[in-house]
Amino acid sequence: MKCKKCGEKAVIRLRAHNISLCKDDFLSFVLNSVQRTIKKYKLFVPGEKILVAVSGGKDSLALFDILQRLGYPVEGFYIDLGIDGFSQRAQEIAGEFLAERKAPLHLYSLREEVRAGVAQIASRLKRSPCSLCGMMRRYIMNRFAWEKGFSTVVTGHNLDDEGATLLGNLINWQVGYLARQSPLLPATHPRLVKKVKPLARLSEREILAYCLFRGIAYHEERCPHSKGATSIKQKEVLNLLEYHSPGSKIRFYQEFLKNQEVFPGLEPHEMRECTVCGFPTTRDMCQFCAILERFRELTPLQGQIEERKD
Ligand code: SF4
Ligand SMILES: [Zn+2]
Ligand SMILES: [Zn+2]
Repeated sequence: MKCKKCGEKAVIRLRAHNISLCKDDFLSFVLNSVQRTIKKYKLFVPGEKILVAVSGGKDSLALFDILQRLGYPVEGFYIDLGIDGFSQRAQEIAGEFLAERKAPLHLYSLREEVRAGVAQIASRLKRSPCSLCGMMRRYIMNRFAWEKGFSTVVTGHNLDDEGATLLGNLINWQVGYLARQSPLLPATHPRLVKKVKPLARLSEREILAYCLFRGIAYHEERCPHSKGATSIKQKEVLNLLEYHSPGSKIRFYQEFLKNQEVFPGLEPHEMRECTVCGFPTTRDMCQFCAILERFRELTPLQGQIEERKD
């Protein structure tokens, strides 16, 4: 197997693109792919202050590495949602990685704000941790970025994540979400920060190979709450299609983006300010504040319990 670019021995076969590449040309392929996504969707403008959400996992660390190599001035943000054991180990790995890169790492701890982790809050509200986790992360990222003057939040969603989301949105005919799903989510309110996904056209396998070839040590453990998640099943379906018909995944996502205007979207909701935090919401209180308020109502002795434990 020879590298399509230089003719040297290839180390990876990319069936979706019908090419084999040596290590150096594969690493360039990844950087070029991200740079193309950034240019095509105009993800950044010069001089922006960019905050990268780092979870310690392969996608966010590869993303940070790539953006640094491409010359973007990036800073990291780790959100500790208090998932016992898992969050501490992930934070250590993210911390070591950013320290090696001499890049700033900002930290947020849910336990510091609420004195409880996401699983405890979910259990008290009789919900699953995953049903709160995504919403809380998005809120915390936006609030932190806005308060600290960042103009963009970057996340490590890859092609498999975006494909699974697209499949889920199609199965449920979520036309509002289908109209909005994109590597670029512009800021539609003065207190909303732009969100971008530069890895959206790279597969999980390509990112994994990138980490291995670069020697990036990432957090390999799966979140203990991930068992049976619908997104895992959707990824399995797409991987099966990819196996039988290489290139299906990238075609599914790219052709959707090209034809997205067939989904007209919904009338925008009237935005109000949350009566507690002031961030935009369609109701009186935003979902984040409503969850915390409900949790505090159901946990009146929480402060005393925590104090006795100390
Ligand atoms: S599986 Fe994912 S969404 Fe669910 S709690 Fe863990 S990190 Fe959050
Ligand atoms: Zn080569
Ligand atoms: Zn609020």
